[in-house]
Amino acid sequence: MNQVTVKTSANTISETELKEWLRSIGQPEYRCAQIRSWIFKNFAVSPDEMKNVPVELRAKLSEKFSFCRTSEIKSDKSADGTEKLLLKLHDGECVESVIIPSPDRFTFCLSTQVGCPVGCYFCASGSGGLIRNLDVSEILDELFICCRKIGGVPDNIVFMGTGEPLMNYSNLVAAMNIMGGSGYMGISPRRITVSTSGFVPGIIRLADEKKPWNLAVSIHAPTDKVRAALIPLKHRYPIKEICDACRYYFSNTGRIVTFEYTLVKDINDSPSHALELATIAHGCGAKVNLIPLNPIGNPAFSRPEKQIITKFESILRSKKIPVTVRVEKGDNINAACGQLRVSHHGKQVGAVKDPVKNHRVHRDENAVKGKK
Ligand code: SAH
Ligand code: SF4
Repeated sequence: MNQVTVKTSANTISETELKEWLRSIGQPEYRCAQIRSWIFKNFAVSPDEMKNVPVELRAKLSEKFSFCRTSEIKSDKSADGTEKLLLKLHDGECVESVIIPSPDRFTFCLSTQVGCPVGCYFCASGSGGLIRNLDVSEILDELFICCRKIGGVPDNIVFMGTGEPLMNYSNLVAAMNIMGGSGYMGISPRRITVSTSGFVPGIIRLADEKKPWNLAVSIHAPTDKVRAALIPLKHRYPIKEICDACRYYFSNTGRIVTFEYTLVKDINDSPSHALELATIAHGCGAKVNLIPLNPIGNPAFSRPEKQIITKFESILRSKKIPVTVRVEKGDNINAACGQLRVSHHGKQVGAVKDPVKNHRVHRDENAVKGKK
């Protein structure tokens, strides 16, 4: 029987592991720093790029470790510079990552799962359910591919791509630790934002890590009744429990939580919803990020008119809630959550009718401006 050797991914390897391996093959210790610099500072996707490493050692690295197993199969750049990448994983599944430039910084929006188990009614990502989790190295592959595009590390990373990050907890946290670790990429945890649909056990677990990662919670409604029109029961937690978890998160990390609120016409966009939202945001010390819906083809879910959005925003402001409205970027690309993947597979999953016409980029204004 053929034995399959599972190689360790080069982008997850620790300094100690690499040193030990180098010693075991009779290589000097200084090679460790060289190799790690190629991986974590130059985002090398193959040992062939490691010009100051001898060819024989590069061959051994290839034998021992797997390098980037993810490849870019499509890239759409909008007029404003937003670039959406469709990435193919080693098993043929696809995920999306988005590079969002602003005048003085870059934000990367990364995915954590192929598909999503939560299945919010207005979101293309969840329309086909969960296919699988990304492993640590796949999450890092996304990051490395984006880093290679801009020639450096981003200013901010938001986990607002496909998937419920907190339902792929250990891989997410391991990837964030590698992004943040000083011996690795050195990206400050304060510049990394995890967005969750309100998965309470995950919020509590993340709070217990006591790391200053930013937390964005997709609250979307001020009452459980209204929330039920947007998020299926299976993974929906009561607002009261979510708020308790947010307060716990703040008390453990000192990070102000952001409520993401996708505004959907005639469902959650009335002045009374805004007032109720102000009350719960106040109770959690939360900021609010309003996201005007990008329709995915279901006529039951459409975007409110501009004046309704402005009114909603001004009510929150009048109640002293810090509020931003997500800026639309990527107008001429297929930039909505999960839509590029759906259109690539050529399937009309769920309610998506014309993915090419639906655009949304996961831009978190606060994260982009580094204010979190
Ligand atoms: N699963 C996580 C993170 C990914 S979704 C979460 O739900 O928070 C990131 C954000 O995009 C969420 O706030 C989500 O509600 C929002 N979103 C998804 N589809 C959308 C759409 N069609 N229009 C507007 N916002 C959408
Ligand atoms: Fe999943 Fe988030 Fe989309 Fe809901 S909004 S289906 S949780 S990716």
